[in-house]
Amino acid sequence: MAEIKRIAVLTSGGDAPGMNTCIRAVVRTALYNGCDVFGIRDGYEGLLRNDMALLEAREVGGIIQRGGTILGTARSDEFRTEAGQAKGMQILKSHNIDALVVIGGDGSMRGARALVKLGLPVVGVPATIDNDMWGTNMAIGVDTALNTISDAIDKLRDTASSHRRAFLIETMGRNCGYLAVMAGVIGGAEVVLIPEAPVTIEEVAAKVEDAYKRGKTHSIVIVSEGANVLTTELASALEQMDVGFSTRITILGHIQRGGRPTAFDRLLASRMGVTAVDALLAGQTDVMMGLRGREVEPVPLADVVSKQREANLDYYEMAKMLAF
Ligand code: ATP
Repeated sequence: MAEIKRIAVLTSGGDAPGMNTCIRAVVRTALYNGCDVFGIRDGYEGLLRNDMALLEAREVGGIIQRGGTILGTARSDEFRTEAGQAKGMQILKSHNIDALVVIGGDGSMRGARALVKLGLPVVGVPATIDNDMWGTNMAIGVDTALNTISDAIDKLRDTASSHRRAFLIETMGRNCGYLAVMAGVIGGAEVVLIPEAPVTIEEVAAKVEDAYKRGKTHSIVIVSEGANVLTTELASALEQMDVGFSTRITILGHIQRGGRPTAFDRLLASRMGVTAVDALLAGQTDVMMGLRGREVEPVPLADVVSKQREANLDYYEMAKMLAF
């Protein structure tokens, strides 16, 4: 394998807090090892625009604590095509890029694989707030999003208790209920609705009414955005069914993506950034760095893009049991 002297890095898909921390770790580890580092703007879209520049150590200074991504991120339909991927590869070659670090979600890892198949050494780093990726216990950004959600739940509970209300709180996660389930446990929700465990409106109504009859001053219902019942539909049904509490909705939305990365996310992002570059320099490719137990280890990209993460139904049951 040819020696790696020039490494590029990009962030892709939805932004996640901690991406900047990871960019910093990639750049500084590469520089420490005597490599040049190119930052590619706006993910694969920026690659196809040939939008990249050398990054120096000082350019990634002061970003360890900043949410979002200084490189920008985007979704590119052109890069999903073979012609787009070949064009991207040719642009990377024109800059003599020897290897690439891709920081993003599972779609971004599919893009990474496309470049591996064209002969480029690539290592992925998982960053997405939904935690829907196979191969890592936690992706970068998940912990920060959970902290944001739990802070919001605490605030909403204060006002819910004062008015004896039920609050329906919608969290992100189109196909994966991870954030909702964990929010249910750490936020003390009465009911959690997730895509992996469909429920009926009647079941939810019965639980909320039961909580009212048991003398609770508030009821917190967490609804994952991909749940089988829509938040608005559930709110109007609860109002009509007269479950005791009056109902209010809060859709947390993009608030969950922003903010300073937590200590956990900064540490994870730093470890993953460093080990991603170390892996490339050691000749590894076609892998993603994954948190397995307490260790950060390479897992095959082929598995990441083909395997489904299992739902955390044990925590789902825990949230239900603790809601009594
Ligand atoms: P998030 O989980 O936050 O949505 P993601 O990385 O899964 O992040 P996607 O929009 O699915 O976000 O993927 C990001 C980009 O990766 C896409 O816009 C596209 O350019 C590229 N990509 C996705 N799937 C493929 C694929 N099968 N082949 C090549 N490129 C792909």
